[in-house]
Amino acid sequence: MTTSPTAREILRSVMSGERSSLSFAKASIDQADAVRAGHDGLNILLHRDDSVARSRARSIDEKIETGEKGLLAGVPVVVKDNIATLEMPTSCGSRILEGYVSPYEATAIARLLRQGAVIVGKSNMDEFAMGSSTENSAFGPAKNPLNPSLVPGGSSGGSAAAVAAGIVPLALGSETGGSVRQPAAFCGVVGVKPTYGRVSRYGLVAFASSLDQIGVFGRTVDDAALGLESIAGLDPLDSTSAAEPVPSYCEAARGSLAGVVIGRPREYFPPELDPDIRERCDAVFDTLRRLGAEVRDVSLPHTSLAIPVYYIIAPAEASSNLARFDGVRYGLRIEGDGLQAMYEATRSRGFGREVTRRILLGTYVLSAGYYDAYYKKAQQARTLIARDFSKVFASGVHLLFTPTTPSPAFPLGAKSDPYEMYLSDIFTCTANLAGVPAVSLPIGRVNGLPVGGQFMASHFDERQMFVAAYALERALGAEPLS
Ligand code: GLN
Repeated sequence: MTTSPTAREILRSVMSGERSSLSFAKASIDQADAVRAGHDGLNILLHRDDSVARSRARSIDEKIETGEKGLLAGVPVVVKDNIATLEMPTSCGSRILEGYVSPYEATAIARLLRQGAVIVGKSNMDEFAMGSSTENSAFGPAKNPLNPSLVPGGSSGGSAAAVAAGIVPLALGSETGGSVRQPAAFCGVVGVKPTYGRVSRYGLVAFASSLDQIGVFGRTVDDAALGLESIAGLDPLDSTSAAEPVPSYCEAARGSLAGVVIGRPREYFPPELDPDIRERCDAVFDTLRRLGAEVRDVSLPHTSLAIPVYYIIAPAEASSNLARFDGVRYGLRIEGDGLQAMYEATRSRGFGREVTRRILLGTYVLSAGYYDAYYKKAQQARTLIARDFSKVFASGVHLLFTPTTPSPAFPLGAKSDPYEMYLSDIFTCTANLAGVPAVSLPIGRVNGLPVGGQFMASHFDERQMFVAAYALERALGAEPLS
């Protein structure tokens, strides 16, 4: 499972002419077949078009012969099913968009392709990215390649699993409240959520627009850095994308932790934290000190508000964003007796239970009479959470390090109470609410299952975050995935 090459290795091999892009695309396709046959359906990919992937790889090989270069030349990638591609459907894991093919492609996709990537498939996900286990997919749950009785995490579970299963070295996911980092932690891979505004959201199907960001999975920090470097930067098609210059994240490999101050926020290490996870994090802090960093105890006092705030703001925005799926313009349409009946039939048949719950919840908190009590209050509390981060970073702390999740991957079907599922995001949704970047990487194992730890940085300081991730990964050594 771990023998498949990294994106960096593929790039070197393709650029030097040692192996063709086509041979890597074929290996990726074979591995997708093997995973499907071998594990009785891990259900990682929702769409594949092998002939498009092969012909794309062939055209990359031709371009390389004429001297063209790309950061991802010949690298097979998988893309979450909520990111618009021209050649495969973009169904968002939902019946309402089943078979829907977008007439335009996302900026992140255009950029991947410009750098020479080969898209081999679209990955399974919780419907409209709502969930933390990929069990909310309308097309059946994805499973964790490390142990198929466990969830891969969510909502970008298929992308994390595709990387962990060695189908591709690199995958795109999306984050609204932890959906890249949490599955990365559960599958033992690296997951990056960039600063809000760092990567264009053009062509990412909107869930909660003030939180959504495209993120990257890699098996190594270097691959994740390579992936983010390829897609980051201003895009005139997304007014929320930022004009901040994009430094080379791969260069961060040469950085040092000497003199870097790393905060240990006490709210992320509550007394009830799983003792094994705490122990792994303590070992990381020791390693970081050995690498020259100063570890400082800090506080983000409004952390306990994050889950209630997130689960008001995200459904509120979702209820508005998902109004467009009405049977008129996109996807599914079920006729009824008049327009109202058509809306009702289409939406109640097209959306699954969790999406319906969020729409109802969101509509409620935005309705007259409740708006001030819920939505406005949540926005005020969000400001307090964001301010916690600004204050800590202004006090001379460069990075924060915390566990990514409160537990390792859990069994399929284990969390039937939605609130229990929501608590999986307790350490991750804060970065989304504050808009800061974060990266999760494997920091060891508990009972054979991978555990993730995350670095969070101040806005647009992904580079500093990568310096630490590269250094920690090197220090911990390559952890075998299985
Ligand atoms: N698990 C969270 C939710 O269900 C986050 C999802 C995400 O980041 N897309 O909303």
